[in-house]
Amino acid sequence: MRSIPFGCPILGDEERNAVMEVLRGHVLTHGPRVKEFEEVFAKFTGANYAVATASCTAALHLSYSYVDLGPGDEVIVPAETHVAAAHAVELFGAKPVFVDSEKLTGNVDVEEVETVITDRTKALSIVHYLGMPVDMNRVGAIAKKYGLFVVEDCALALGAYFNGVHCGLQGDVGCFSFYPVKHITTGEGGMVITKHKNVAEKVAKQRAFGIDQNVVSKRKIPGMYDVEMQGSNYRLNEIAAAIGIEQMKRVGDFLRKRRENFELLGERLRSIDEVELLQTSHGEFQSSYYCLPMILKEPLHTKRTEIMELLVQNGIGMSIYYPKPVPHMAYYKSKYDYRDNSFPVAARLSSNSIALPVGPHVQAEDMLYVVDKIKDAIARVKR
Ligand SMILES: *Cc1c(COP(=O)(O)O)cnc(C)c1O
Repeated sequence: MRSIPFGCPILGDEERNAVMEVLRGHVLTHGPRVKEFEEVFAKFTGANYAVATASCTAALHLSYSYVDLGPGDEVIVPAETHVAAAHAVELFGAKPVFVDSEKLTGNVDVEEVETVITDRTKALSIVHYLGMPVDMNRVGAIAKKYGLFVVEDCALALGAYFNGVHCGLQGDVGCFSFYPVKHITTGEGGMVITKHKNVAEKVAKQRAFGIDQNVVSKRKIPGMYDVEMQGSNYRLNEIAAAIGIEQMKRVGDFLRKRRENFELLGERLRSIDEVELLQTSHGEFQSSYYCLPMILKEPLHTKRTEIMELLVQNGIGMSIYYPKPVPHMAYYKSKYDYRDNSFPVAARLSSNSIALPVGPHVQAEDMLYVVDKIKDAIARVKR
């Protein structure tokens, strides 16, 4: 039987040797590899500035610190997303205001965004759902009209472009994740990219306690430094950065393989009447193909668990993006008193979809196998 995990980092001798090279020295943090990783990431995305962080959640937290988010402030957040997007707002005592998805792409319904803006709204959290870019022209127009700071959550959008510009650069900041199942990995890790010098400088300081001079060798008197602002410890270490540098050498191959797998799988799934697929890359919208969500049409959706069980029995890894809309998760639901029937488009994605693997660890023949097993499973549950 085949075994096709949903996500699987691709690590080779290059990554292992790079890690050993770090361990042969003594510089484990504040070193040259983080700097190099930032440089190659900035070059790949076309960013003016890139600042490596301990995770995407840390990157989001640092981004909101820039605008001094606080109690009484509101940030507009998509309902159908990773909980980190909302948690990053809650950390400041500010309030995430959720917006439903649009049916076509699963991305935030930009038209609805404007209807929930108040004079307390300080920022927009824009998440490119499963790597499919949001229309940043429309987001930009709203941000400009109301003077809002735009944080792009690009955790699944490495290699995604809108209008030929890499995601994360049309808003004020873009935040990336290098968790193991993302497009590249450093174990844990993240990155902030921005076109604004002042944002990059503040993020870099706050990532390291708000200290004015972090590089020990540059301090005139050993141990002497000042603290200019509030801050945290959200640094990436040299071991992680060494892995990231190697992963960035292969990111083009990773992305190509994802696109090929996605296109092959999507083309075959389109012939199955019982399922529907979201809109993917076209024109100025270029996806990074994190996974392929297959949406079970009604009434087949009631059999999702059985279908997933049959696929698991055949060695196929899957996931659900996301198990519930964030405002239906217990913490947010009870805190803000959301109803079960709110956010219907997001809720349908949560209850009807199955996320299928398309990562570079998957081969073309695996994709055909997945399609066969899906057809078998649907036939069986309909019997
Ligand atoms: C994975 C993910 C995050 C969190 O990233 P970490 O690096 O684990 O903090 C945030 N947002 C989205 C959309 C994600 O997929």
